[in-house]
Amino acid sequence: MEIAPQRKVSSDDVGVASTLPVYRSPPELEIRLEDFELFAIDRLRVLKGISDALSRGKKPDEIEKLVEVLWKTHKEHLQPSEAINKDIISHFVLRLVYCRTEELRKWFLSMETTLFRYRFKHESVESQRALLAEFDLPYKAVSNAEFESVKEKLSQVARSLRPHLPSSTTDVVFYKVPFEEVPELVAGRRVYVHKGYAYVAMNQVVSLVVTQFRSNLSKALILTNRKWASTICDKEKNRLTPIVETLATSYLGPDYSEPKEFAEISLKDLDQVANNSFPLCMRHLFEKLREDHHLKHGGRMQLGLFLKGVGLKLDDALAFWKSEFSKKVGPERFDKEYAYSIRHNYGKEGKRVDYTPYSCQKIISCTPGVGDHHGCPYRHFSEENLRAALNKMGVSSRYMTDVMDKVRNRHYQLACTLTFEAIHGSPCDSGINHPNQYFSDSQKILQAKVEI
Ligand code: SF4
Repeated sequence: MEIAPQRKVSSDDVGVASTLPVYRSPPELEIRLEDFELFAIDRLRVLKGISDALSRGKKPDEIEKLVEVLWKTHKEHLQPSEAINKDIISHFVLRLVYCRTEELRKWFLSMETTLFRYRFKHESVESQRALLAEFDLPYKAVSNAEFESVKEKLSQVARSLRPHLPSSTTDVVFYKVPFEEVPELVAGRRVYVHKGYAYVAMNQVVSLVVTQFRSNLSKALILTNRKWASTICDKEKNRLTPIVETLATSYLGPDYSEPKEFAEISLKDLDQVANNSFPLCMRHLFEKLREDHHLKHGGRMQLGLFLKGVGLKLDDALAFWKSEFSKKVGPERFDKEYAYSIRHNYGKEGKRVDYTPYSCQKIISCTPGVGDHHGCPYRHFSEENLRAALNKMGVSSRYMTDVMDKVRNRHYQLACTLTFEAIHGSPCDSGINHPNQYFSDSQKILQAKVEI
């Protein structure tokens, strides 16, 4: 498929220009639909990794190491020119995916900017210069002769700024920037100013470049959204829309459609495992089902597929749902109206597709209506109800503040991860990405305790 005009990178370009593109315009390339999606998923893994690390409060040097590893994986097994093409294509596909709402734009902007910052820092000095030129930033690198003449002044500034600038300026590249362009650095006396120019060290230039990158991308996302909504022809849009929509909520972790470690959960154990190992979203649905003897379609799907994933066999599932629903609608109506959809979830009806349990992302992004109980409580409960539910789960006040803090900052999966850690007294370094992962991690911990 053709996206729009930009020159294709050839292997001859690599080593001459920077390997870090500024993503001015989409590539003029024929892209297979599978690559369109696969490249985007790979980049999404990088951005999600950064997002998780940032929300878990990792330090800049830890994030730097992480970005290095993630980016290495992104270009694994590729020739340099292929890696650059993949970089550009994946960025533009995700622009389409993440331009469509304010919330999506904000997330993408923040993650791409972080990725750009770390990549820029690791570019060679020549490549950084090339990038400054690409951004049309009128900054000139200070020549050796000029450097010698202002060396002492630069050292004085550097000494006063330690540890922000290295105290020795010999290895640092400085740029001359019109002083009115860096008012904060001038006001904070963090640069030497001479004849209308501020002498800015490379590590200070990084923030200027990153600000420019962020501002360009922010405008571009709004434009992309407008174009996507108005100008892309219907045929093209129809082909891409399903991919774009799926990517925005795509789950990148393991598949939980088949129970793995805990092959079977029997009906008699269900209440106990629900109490010990169900995440809050499933615990809530389970309790509501026991209380009301009914769940609407969204709740039946969310809980039903989860139970299938934890190892409840079809016969047990039918018995379980029937025993509850019968109390409200009677056994005959259950057989007539509800049993079909349970068999359907297990791939025994209709297209006979074995449906996959929902990931956190899918659950978090749904919009439950009145009378619905599905969704993610960290996102969909009021603060008061959430506190009460967490109290009931046994989250102590020591952890409650942290959990609520994550919820306020809309880090729902991290709030769930902290809840998991509080309840199990054990770290969950990978974070919670899937209710069935919560279940299986919980069972692992509980079983290990029994074995001791
Ligand atoms: S974060 Fe995921 S597992 Fe936790 S309650 Fe929300 S949807 Fe369920």
